[in-house]
Amino acid sequence: MRNKLMAVVVGALLGLSGPAVAQPPAKGGAKKEAAAPAGKTELTWWGHAAFILRTPGGATLAIDPWLSNPKAPQGVQWPEKVDAILVSHGHFDHVGDTKALQQKTGAQVFGCYELISLLGIPQDKAMGGNVGGTFKVKDATIHFVEAVHSSSYAADEKSPSQYAGAPMGFVIEIENGPTLYHGGDTGLFGGMSLIAEQFKPTYALLPIGGHFTLDPAGAAQAARLLGNPTVVPMHYGTFPLLTGSPDKLEAELKKTKSAAKVKSLEAGKATAL
Ligand SMILES: [Zn+2]
Repeated sequence: MRNKLMAVVVGALLGLSGPAVAQPPAKGGAKKEAAAPAGKTELTWWGHAAFILRTPGGATLAIDPWLSNPKAPQGVQWPEKVDAILVSHGHFDHVGDTKALQQKTGAQVFGCYELISLLGIPQDKAMGGNVGGTFKVKDATIHFVEAVHSSSYAADEKSPSQYAGAPMGFVIEIENGPTLYHGGDTGLFGGMSLIAEQFKPTYALLPIGGHFTLDPAGAAQAARLLGNPTVVPMHYGTFPLLTGSPDKLEAELKKTKSAAKVKSLEAGKATAL
């Protein structure tokens, strides 16, 4: 009885707190999410820097889930089940729909301590850490790594920006699967070679749009420092300012005789890795 009452109170508080958030698409008529093929790791790009990652052990991770971004897949249902949401930094295009997705799925939210403290996530679901931290979610091991960028958070357009700690990238090691590096928003930095040395990423999800992050030439350099992983381009084309493109990245890799390959994902289409 007491638990039931608590649930009602907590639910009411959550409903009242925080800014208005985008609502997930209605269930009726939307395409059903497919389960990951047995034993496979599956990655779905959701436009911009947003990804849904499903592991062979049944973990579902959402990274920088701005699921309502201008390039998001149309008519594709938000994931029903998410174990962990990873937020690289506080800018609106990365925090995105974190709060709505957390409320919908009950996922744990991982990111820099200062940022996570600002998001209004229930305490038992907020997992704030910092660069150097390692976290386990089923068969996925998540490492918080450096990113060269900035980080501030505003709850809505009218609220002032608040200090949100360090921007970060993530390395995700998957048991019996690949190792992914999601760069967050970043420029080029020498520590990428340490990420290569420590984790040997199979895939690098790198921003290529330029202006706020790496551009195609920078991303080609980053691929070299990271030990020539397969590069999954992200953070391009969402706004006119983000002029980098996978074609320009291919050209830069060719120019520098790089061994790194490019794997461009179509938004909303799950790809087995
Ligand atoms: Zn940013």
